[in-house]
Amino acid sequence: MKALEELVGILARLPGIGRKSAARIAFHILKSDDQYAALLAERIGALKNQVRFCSTCGSYTEEDPCPVCSSPVRDKTVICVVEQAQDVMTIEASREYRGVYHVLGALLSPLDGVGPEALKLDRLLDRVRDQAVSEVVIATNPTVEGDTTALYLKKVLEGSNARVTRLATGIPVGGDLEYADRLTLARSFRGRVPL
Ligand SMILES: [Zn+2]
Repeated sequence: MKALEELVGILARLPGIGRKSAARIAFHILKSDDQYAALLAERIGALKNQVRFCSTCGSYTEEDPCPVCSSPVRDKTVICVVEQAQDVMTIEASREYRGVYHVLGALLSPLDGVGPEALKLDRLLDRVRDQAVSEVVIATNPTVEGDTTALYLKKVLEGSNARVTRLATGIPVGGDLEYADRLTLARSFRGRVPL
């Protein structure tokens, strides 16, 4: 059955889904009513059509600029720098942070050949300069790549008026922002330290 095999092949490429789980999902879709299968296909298509990147901060959004960038109550003089667009949603869920964001899109990893040109730094530097930013909070994961990137950003921002801070306690070393619980993340925002 070519259609089934092809679907299993595609599903197995999802993170955390092995071939066995992929087959289980495919059979589940096959057994469910036509409406569900059509809705699933439609939603997946809509996700890619409707969600794009904010041209200011780089986070996921349906309107450009995103609700955070266009909000009159968010503090535009504080920029939180994260690795991935989904990190913005994680931090927003903690409800602790009232500034704006900047998504790097990658972390420095010299061993893997990822240099500074992979990071979207020009836009960050423009924003720091044009919006009289007073603080840049670096919220990259506490991994080797996250730390290397934080130190590099600190160096790049040296000539600006912004002080550079980093999320401090709470996030385990080698951990991932995505898996930090809301309270832990809120506490690390309050306890951020100068870099
Ligand atoms: Zn934005």
